[in-house]
Amino acid sequence: MQLTDAEIRKILIQEKRRIYKRKKARRRRSMIILLAIILIVSVVIIVNREELGFFNSRGTIFIDPGHGGEDPGSYTSSRFEKNDNLALALEVKDYLKRENFQVFMSRSDDTYISRDERGMMANKASADLMISLHRNKTDGEGRGVEVFIPSPLDKESEILGNNIMKALVKEGFLERSVRVGTLVSEDENYAENSYSNMPSCLIEVGFISDQGDNKLFDDNMKKNAQAIAEAIIDTYSELYEADK
Ligand SMILES: [Zn+2]
Repeated sequence: MQLTDAEIRKILIQEKRRIYKRKKARRRRSMIILLAIILIVSVVIIVNREELGFFNSRGTIFIDPGHGGEDPGSYTSSRFEKNDNLALALEVKDYLKRENFQVFMSRSDDTYISRDERGMMANKASADLMISLHRNKTDGEGRGVEVFIPSPLDKESEILGNNIMKALVKEGFLERSVRVGTLVSEDENYAENSYSNMPSCLIEVGFISDQGDNKLFDDNMKKNAQAIAEAIIDTYSELYEADK
């Protein structure tokens, strides 16, 4: 069968169209796959943004709720220090996260972690500031807040400690003192303060043995947490954002 020039041209044009359509379909398929990948990656990032640290444009804070697991800390017949520390820490964490800070905790449940490990965990998290939350106890009379900062005195930890003390006094707690070192020595350190290499402090948020302090602690849990978080944020701004 002989084809005319016009027929040959028609066949060639049809063939070209077919090839063009095939290429177009392939391009469309590739585009759909690419968009699907972008969508999946975006969803994964958004869902895990806190763990990944995305969108947390400000600093990193390490919160250490004292004691845990087999170590109850101080206790009375009705309460364990480890539970108080954790409850407050979780509230502080929530507040800081809402303010776009990345927050790491030494524990977020009733787990035992050694005191040495806690400061090292803060280093590993590259935290800008660290706080360790505790509650005090005495067999006699005693109430109020005590803050311990590392020895030898470092100015940055002192700013953090003073800011937190001021914040808690505003919430109604008695001001005891911001002290360098430990209860027994100005030259020694609690492990949390000695192993961490960022400004840090250990806070005794009232006495677990004092009913008035417990009432302040329980009734104003969210406000106390907010006060501590705001003191941390103020300190962060002062130390790391002042020149911005
Ligand atoms: Zn303690």
